Amino acid sequence: MAERDSGGARQAIRVLLASSNAGKLREYREMAARGSGVELDLMPGFHEHPAFEESALTFAEIGAAKALHYSRFVDEIVLADDSGLVVPALGGAPGVRSARYAGLNATDEQNNQKLLHEMSELTGEQRCARFVCVAALARSGRALAVTSDFAEGSILKAPRGTGGFGYDPLFLSTEMGCTFAEAPPGRKNRCSHRGKAFAKIIALLRAPSFLIPS
Ligand code: IMP
Repeated sequence: MAERDSGGARQAIRVLLASSNAGKLREYREMAARGSGVELDLMPGFHEHPAFEESALTFAEIGAAKALHYSRFVDEIVLADDSGLVVPALGGAPGVRSARYAGLNATDEQNNQKLLHEMSELTGEQRCARFVCVAALARSGRALAVTSDFAEGSILKAPRGTGGFGYDPLFLSTEMGCTFAEAPPGRKNRCSHRGKAFAKIIALLRAPSFLIPS
C-alpha cells in the first residue's frame, strides 16, 4: 500500500483504475500488488458513468482526457490510460484505434487477423512495431500527472504464445526475444509500455514533492 508522510503519520494513497479492459486490469493489479506502494482498486460503478468518447487522435490526449472525465464522478485519485500498437510502415496504424481496428466491438482475434492481412506484403524492417502507453492521474477534474513509455518489437507472420491479450501473440519483443504472449508471468510487466509508464506514475505518487489536492 502506498504511504505518504502527512504530519508525521503514514497515510495510504488509494488509486482508482478507470478501465473495463480485462487484460489491462489484470496487468495493473499484478504490478500494484508487487510491493509497488499503490493500493489500486477498480473505480466503483465504472460502467454506470457516461462512457468516455475516444475520438481524439493522440494517445496523450485520450489518456489525459479519460482520467479527467472519470475523475469527475468520484472524490479520489483516478488512473486511466490509453495504449495501442503503432506500426510505422502502416502510417502508425492501428494506433489509437487499436482496440477497434477491425471494427467496433472487434475481438482480439479479428484485430490480429486484420493486422496480419494489412502487413502480408511487408518484410524485414517494415515489420517493426512499438506499443505505446500514456497513463494519467486526475482528481475531481484536475490533471495530476501524465506519463508515457513504449516497447519496441516487430510483428510476426503468425501468432506465438497463449498469455496476455490483444496483439501480444504477434508482438515479438526486442528486449525479451519472445512474444509478449510467450513471456513468463510478471516478465511482460517489467518491460512493457504499460509497465514502464505505470512505474513512472508510482514514482511520482511516492515522491515527497507530489501534492495531492483534496
Ligand atoms: P484502449 O483501451 O483504448 O487503451 O485500447 C488498447 C488496445 O490496444 C487493446 O484493446 C489492444 O488491442 C491494444 N493493446 C494495448 N496494450 C496492449 C498490450 O499490452 N498487449 C496487446 N495489445 C495491447
